[in-house]
Amino acid sequence: MTKYDKLIEAAKKGDQRSLGRLARLIDDNEDGAAQIVGKLYPEGGNAHIVGITGPPGAGKSTLVSALVGEWRKAGRRIGVLAVDPTSPFSGGAVLGDRIRMQEHATDPDVFIRSMATRGHLGGLSRSVLSLITLLDAVGYDTIVLETVGVGQEEVEVKDIAHTTVFVTVPGLGDGIQTMKAGILEIADIYLVNKMDLANAGSAMKDLKSMLLMSGRQKGWAPPVLGAVALEEKGVHELAGAITEHWSFMRGSDGLEQWSSRSAAMSIKVALRQSMEDRVLGVVDGNRDEFNEDVRKVSSREETPASVAGRWLAKLDLK
Ligand code: GDP
Repeated sequence: MTKYDKLIEAAKKGDQRSLGRLARLIDDNEDGAAQIVGKLYPEGGNAHIVGITGPPGAGKSTLVSALVGEWRKAGRRIGVLAVDPTSPFSGGAVLGDRIRMQEHATDPDVFIRSMATRGHLGGLSRSVLSLITLLDAVGYDTIVLETVGVGQEEVEVKDIAHTTVFVTVPGLGDGIQTMKAGILEIADIYLVNKMDLANAGSAMKDLKSMLLMSGRQKGWAPPVLGAVALEEKGVHELAGAITEHWSFMRGSDGLEQWSSRSAAMSIKVALRQSMEDRVLGVVDGNRDEFNEDVRKVSSREETPASVAGRWLAKLDLK
């Protein structure tokens, strides 16, 4: 039994420290990371991955915290990955929110990890995918991926999450902004949070009519829900809609389609990352040559792209 096997066994039994160590090894992409993911991958594929996305300040973290409470009542083990610079999970919000998170932070069946980033999944996707594999394989039932923005990144939340929830708030000038992000095509559930604010009713109405006009294909009809996350209002209904969407996915060809899409995306992420690792490794091993290229590019004798092409050609692509 390797030291990784021991950590994995302990994590499966609910030992958070072992799980934390595995997560750190994966995060830092240390030598053992590929080995750990290799061991865990065949055991994954059971968890429900839920993406919660929307603009900063919409109340995503407040909502996730309330959702975690709701799911814990049902005895589920929950993982939360927050890819959001403004998230209280990553330490960006007021004290009240942090205290609420803290409740869950001491619950051995809730694993929370925030990832430092500017809010984009792109550069982080290897870590995110590997951490999901980890939590899934050690027995977490639901994994929440909280992130800002959607549909504009090289890796989209809908390819990582089975169910995508878009959270918005009244008075954002919703129309144009949400359309722009392509959000009307991709979310499975729409939630207007802060229904305690003025104009909440019309924000919901606008969103509903935009969805109707967007001409989405038949199949799952995305509901538009309301919530006051701060008071935990509408959270039970949101949890219900999330479960309903999961049942719909599993009962139709939705899950199979998602699996193929997600696998294709994961391979591309791995390809991009390993190409980058390898080519930068070659650069690191040939510093003098690289410095000469720096001189050529800065004196405009060569373009960055042609230099990059030469380095790529050095890769042994077997
Ligand atoms: P995030 O950036 O989307 O994760 O948003 P947060 O969860 O950090 O919430 C941003 C702010 O909105 C915080 O001050 C919350 O207390 C507040 N907030 C969250 N939900 C509600 C709500 O339902 N009503 C009101 N009025 N404020 C809320």
